[in-house]
Amino acid sequence: MTKISILMYHQIGVFRRPKTHRATFCHIRRFKAQMAYLKVFGYQVISLDEALRALYSESQGKCRRHYVVLTFDDGYKNFSDYAYPVLRRYNYPATVFLVSGLVGKRAKWLADDGRFAPDLLDADTILALQDSGITFGSHTMTHPRLTGLDSSTLEREIIESKSSLESLLGREISYFCYPSGLYDQAVVEKVREAGYKAALTCDRGAATSRDDPLLLPRKAISYGDSLIGYFWKLHMKNKKKLQSPASA
Ligand SMILES: [Zn+2]
Repeated sequence: MTKISILMYHQIGVFRRPKTHRATFCHIRRFKAQMAYLKVFGYQVISLDEALRALYSESQGKCRRHYVVLTFDDGYKNFSDYAYPVLRRYNYPATVFLVSGLVGKRAKWLADDGRFAPDLLDADTILALQDSGITFGSHTMTHPRLTGLDSSTLEREIIESKSSLESLLGREISYFCYPSGLYDQAVVEKVREAGYKAALTCDRGAATSRDDPLLLPRKAISYGDSLIGYFWKLHMKNKKKLQSPASA
């Protein structure tokens, strides 16, 4: 059975060791080493489109390749400053999940939580990245906790964020990512109604053809992950809901 490691990154840059939320930071030095590691050891870095084909269309059972998908949540400006130049060097595809109501602004939901709110990608940079092959998905309009919201708010966050990004980018937005990994039945139904092809959670593990495409698990790469930790994450198979989902 095809297994795909969908890796979850948030901020890439130069950071001192964070006291909290370590899974939302990756030092550029480590990121460079991780991307080189994938190349040296023959991992196949594929896009989300290719991953969905490998999971749900291709004949199952014969695939021995180790597929990896790179995803970046929240659309931080440091993606273009730090991560993208490294991705380009290796020609790796990647998907960035944008908060559609905060394009060109700051990560307000972090400020609301008393945390530092970094700059988010602006529209011109997003368009330039798209021209360079980066895929964008929706991460809602305002990055709320989706569970427990009323239907019209869910509609705005899940359906309107899709159409608003489609207007900005001039192409279909096929992928959704649940903020803080939170979802329930009403949320997933709204994601289905919106017409997304796939949606990504913070549930931990490798994605397989047994997974609902609207509930794909991922593997969070944390600030503290050495290359040994990285290797372990690439090869872990268990699927387990996180005790405390990444909250950025
Ligand atoms: Zn997020």
